[in-house]
Amino acid sequence: MSKNRFDLHEERLATTDEKGHRIFLFPEDVKGIWRKRRTYFYWFLIILYLVLPWIYHQGEQVLLFDLPARKFHFFGSTFYGHDAPILSLLLFGFIFLMGFITSLYGRAWCGWACPQTVFIDAIYRQIEKFVEGKARARQKLENEPWTLKKFGKKALKWGLYLLVSLHISHSFLGYFVGTRNLVGISLSPPTEHMDLFITMIVITAIFLIDFGWFREQFCIIACPYGRFQSVMMDEDSTVVAYDINRGEPRRGLETGNEGDCINCYHCVKVCPTGIDIRRGTQLECIACTNCIDACDEIMEKVGKPKGLISYTSENKLKNIASKRFRIRPMIYLTAIIAAVIVFTISLLNSFNLKATFVRASKTPFQQVILKSGEEGVTNFYKLRMDFKGESDSKVLLAFENPKDNELIEIKTPRNPLPLKETQKKINIFFRFPQSILNKGNKKSVVTFTDEKSGKILLKKEINFVGPIK
Ligand code: SF4
Ligand code: SF4
Repeated sequence: MSKNRFDLHEERLATTDEKGHRIFLFPEDVKGIWRKRRTYFYWFLIILYLVLPWIYHQGEQVLLFDLPARKFHFFGSTFYGHDAPILSLLLFGFIFLMGFITSLYGRAWCGWACPQTVFIDAIYRQIEKFVEGKARARQKLENEPWTLKKFGKKALKWGLYLLVSLHISHSFLGYFVGTRNLVGISLSPPTEHMDLFITMIVITAIFLIDFGWFREQFCIIACPYGRFQSVMMDEDSTVVAYDINRGEPRRGLETGNEGDCINCYHCVKVCPTGIDIRRGTQLECIACTNCIDACDEIMEKVGKPKGLISYTSENKLKNIASKRFRIRPMIYLTAIIAAVIVFTISLLNSFNLKATFVRASKTPFQQVILKSGEEGVTNFYKLRMDFKGESDSKVLLAFENPKDNELIEIKTPRNPLPLKETQKKINIFFRFPQSILNKGNKKSVVTFTDEKSGKILLKKEINFVGPIK
């Protein structure tokens, strides 16, 4: 039988009873330097998240996943469906970055930047505290029978949760629909945008249930990253850890030879996932640092040095010197650098313009007499250009080889062509002296140059044909 409710069997989760039913946690408040740092950082992230979709540059939302138009605006660059391979590099880069951070600093993402932790800790728990009081008062209220007072408090808490969830879900949708669009949509009747309205209700419900009720259960049983973290870390990774050499034997286990841990369970009472960090690094630990502050407070009270629980590594606790270059972070860092290099190169070389020359099937060429009196050939093509983007610029067709520009005449209704009109098929003739053909063929490269920027957007090889002489 356990000595107290925090002293659980090591194979028991703190959030489930012997029958597997959920035990709701009431983590106590904590004060300390890490709590302060996290609060500042959480609010920086929340403001960033809420403000970012409102930032526009040259009339364009800087971060917008425009799903219906299959466009992704990313800080001045626009990606389209055909850019999926380039975008996947961004995704891989992010995954490797997570691996790199985890291999160095453990589950820092979970405790410091995951929206789940940030919103619950900075907003939902604060609302809970404001309405229902501190941990003990909340627990007492939970165990009380339903009275008008209890109903009123619960209704107020969930009402405030709902308001916040609605706000978060609207900001979230702003990244997909566009914030300016969303304002108009929000002010019109729901029946005019039923699909979006239903999406908003579903997302709000997910935030409300997850942040208000499901909470640590998501981190413990649903988050895939939590499962992967152990393969990304090693003995030199910095994690939240208890100094077993200093703390043990804890008070009450042995007399006369006690370590610094006074077995007060303060570190367990403040833990949002209910674990006892003194049992070593566990999958449920989200590295929130609450237990560091809690234990430091106790150490101060009992006149012992702080840091019985601290950010450290398993090797440091065993007095083993950390390796300067570790294979795991190096692999992740190399992968990040490779992804960034390939992404940058792909971005610089990616064109939003596609073009196809289709040769006339019946009369691939026609023999003519040129103005100079020379024998000449005309090749007839249909040019299909496809430009995805917004530009009022024009595209100039020419040849890459300056000599070809002197010899081959390009005849189109318009050259340069407005980029906006490029979705049409354009009739195009090429006229050149027969003498430039070699066994009836001549390869040339046509360039498509943006008239405004002077940048070559695309190059296309073309094979001119004529009589074999
Ligand atoms: S808060 Fe510190 S002293 Fe108290 S039980 Fe935890 S580790 Fe021991
Ligand atoms: S063990 Fe400490 S760092 Fe880990 S989740 Fe609990 S309180 Fe946070």
